[in-house]
Amino acid sequence: MPGGAAAPAADARVDLVGQSLDQLSETLKTLGEPAFRAKQLYKWLYVRGATDFDQMTDLSKSLRAKLAEGFKVGRPGVSAHQKSVDGTEKWLFRYADGNEAETVFIPEDERGTLCVSSQVGCSLTCSFCHTGTQKLVRNLTPGDIVGQFMKARDDLGDWGRSEDGRRLTNIVFMGMGEPLYNTDNVIAALKLLGDGDGLAMGRRRVTLSTSGVVPEMARIGEAVCPQLAISLHAVTDALRDELVPINRKYPIAELMQAVRDYPNLSNARRVTWEYVMLAGVNDSDADARELVRLIDGIPSKVNLIPFNPWPGSGYERSSNNRIRRFAEILMEAGYASPVRTPRGDDILAACGQLKSDSQRIGKRERLKLEAEMEAARLEKEAAVGL
Ligand code: SAH
Ligand code: SF4
Repeated sequence: MPGGAAAPAADARVDLVGQSLDQLSETLKTLGEPAFRAKQLYKWLYVRGATDFDQMTDLSKSLRAKLAEGFKVGRPGVSAHQKSVDGTEKWLFRYADGNEAETVFIPEDERGTLCVSSQVGCSLTCSFCHTGTQKLVRNLTPGDIVGQFMKARDDLGDWGRSEDGRRLTNIVFMGMGEPLYNTDNVIAALKLLGDGDGLAMGRRRVTLSTSGVVPEMARIGEAVCPQLAISLHAVTDALRDELVPINRKYPIAELMQAVRDYPNLSNARRVTWEYVMLAGVNDSDADARELVRLIDGIPSKVNLIPFNPWPGSGYERSSNNRIRRFAEILMEAGYASPVRTPRGDDILAACGQLKSDSQRIGKRERLKLEAEMEAARLEKEAAVGL
């Protein structure tokens, strides 16, 4: 174009989504407003789902104008929104920096579960997981994480509904990424999600799945104590080293101890063991018996996940008969062991199929990030005397 068209100015406004009540108070203080206004603002954001300051009618016009100038109440952009024949929905969300992550909604009879991502990509490389083939791009912020939930609430029409009437009733951190390699941001997000005066997702309705970052399990247990799910997938160190490589750092015995030490486990609050069924790899009767032995005495349920194939994975799903027999051994030992029905596999939304095209950062930056993460972990370990 002659003279060149001016590029649209980048949106420099600060997104308030993800800010806690204290942070909102601080924000308002910088605008010369009293802290108590933060409660009103918080309610508009997290109880009513407002995205426009003009809706916030109990705030003065001048405050609304000031807010609109420097701030926004954002939602992640939607690069794609697909619906499976079975009702499962998948969003590919796009954040302001262009990175993308997936979120899945799984409606069932009595509840609807949102599966959220905690990282773009994953630094771990579990051999059967599609996300594991995508390098870690970045951690998601608290705002990025609750943004997935808030946008899903928008699209499902859930704001303003009573608890009984909501479509989205449960959250699982089982999307892309290892939540306990992003613990601080995940804790901040869990606090926002669990606040009875805000997003109001009760603690029993929020489950965090980890591949077994042992030192972080105690920390999250103490800070917010979500329901715990462990990606076990193998009952010997030799096999788990291969399937879930973090096992080389935190082997099965240490993982089991960390679970035994997790706060508030009881029959009403059981840990879920996730176990992917890989034909001929981890699905024998002997594996099932060893699993029973390992979890003896821990209030547990076992979730058997038929392997969801993806291009080039090299694994096959165990046969239905094999899965049934494996489940029988667990049930005979007294464990509930539902077999997870693959949902949304026609849109690659089933467990372990999530992956975005966001590229990893340059090698140097990545090494720096990894070194920082490792240093932060070591610091924490030292702080808690591990
Ligand atoms: N990183 C965390 C949370 C996300 S994964 C974790 O590993 O626990 C959610 C669950 O899906 C995990 O148990 C994971 O091991 C499992 N999973 C990964 N790939 C899978 C696949 N192809 N088929 C079935 N389950 C898979
Ligand atoms: Fe990462 Fe979990 Fe996939 Fe392992 S199973 S690569 S920890 S997302």
